[in-house]
Amino acid sequence: MSTITLGILGGGQLGSMLSVAAKKLDIKTLVYSDDQDAPAQNFCDEFIFGAYNDKEKLYNFAKKVEVITYEFENIPFETLNELNKLKIILPKPSINRLIQHRLAEKDFINKLNIRTTRYVHVKNKQDLLPLDDFLPGILKTTTMGYDGKGQYPIKNIDTINSLDIDFSNEYILEKLVKLKKEISVIITRFNNNKYEVYEPIENSHENQILRYSKIPAEISKKIFFQSKEWAILIAEELKYIGTLCVEFFIDRNDNLYVNEIAPRVHNSGHLTINAYNISQFENHIRAVCSLEQIPIKKLYNAEMINLIGDQIIPYRENPKLDNNQFLFDYLKKDIKEKRKMGHLTTLK
Ligand code: ADP
Ligand code: MG
Repeated sequence: MSTITLGILGGGQLGSMLSVAAKKLDIKTLVYSDDQDAPAQNFCDEFIFGAYNDKEKLYNFAKKVEVITYEFENIPFETLNELNKLKIILPKPSINRLIQHRLAEKDFINKLNIRTTRYVHVKNKQDLLPLDDFLPGILKTTTMGYDGKGQYPIKNIDTINSLDIDFSNEYILEKLVKLKKEISVIITRFNNNKYEVYEPIENSHENQILRYSKIPAEISKKIFFQSKEWAILIAEELKYIGTLCVEFFIDRNDNLYVNEIAPRVHNSGHLTINAYNISQFENHIRAVCSLEQIPIKKLYNAEMINLIGDQIIPYRENPKLDNNQFLFDYLKKDIKEKRKMGHLTTLK
């Protein structure tokens, strides 16, 4: 019998799916979230509702677990740092601090001689005015952004005046890439040169939110190998433990760029639950809990569609599924526009 209890910071759908994967491995889960209605409480063994700066509740959380991980990157570094004095946190808090800051993240990637979009730091409106060279571009908050939140597309200098940009935040301005395609590579690293890497996944976004993913990605052999190689290089350089996702852009000339890194399991990898012998979630648990590394094997090609906002309703009312289809309802209390409510995976 296992006696390991894994603490998970964050109680969204990723926390839910991590909890389900843990159960299969006889690992107990304790989820901590600042959302009283966090959906992961439907799937974990125990749940604590508390703010990410509530020292007492966080201390009680840490006392009850052997290892701590997290399901989203926007957790204050201070919180992770304090918890790390009590228990092991994987991936390491320093990795999260690096990746949660878009500027530090991109500087790190460029130092590895990996291509990113062109970018520049922007602290105020005056900084923007001489940046014609970076337009059309996207202005993004350096921290706390996700699913396109905190982003302003800027076509030309004239649009800057019409935008109501909140300069209490810092930004980076990124040159817009003429996208042919987006892909992601998910990798779980266990130790030095010990990792499992999933094949590249092709992703489509609508309004900067992931809508659709599929394997195999329709990409050249060169991109197939280069994207995997870059993901491995990033994971090794970070000495990462757990599952990580690298998001890539491919431009119209078939150049590959790293868009961003997610220090966690990733929405594009939900299809690994049904398409592989071991999912990204199970592999994350295996890595952070020091369980056995098992070689991954693709069992099926697959596609996954996110159910956003009220797109979940027909599936809730009448889930007519074929036997190669798998519906995941995240059991979120309120249906909200732009909110990921569930997903549907179809095996091919
Ligand atoms: P988030 O943290 O919200 O996921 P991303 O930087 O990944 O932010 O942006 C979300 C999506 O917006 C991308 O997947 C892509 O479709 C589009 N996007 C972002 N930056 C660029 C860019 N520089 N060029 C072209 N498309 C972009
Ligand atoms: Mg992204």
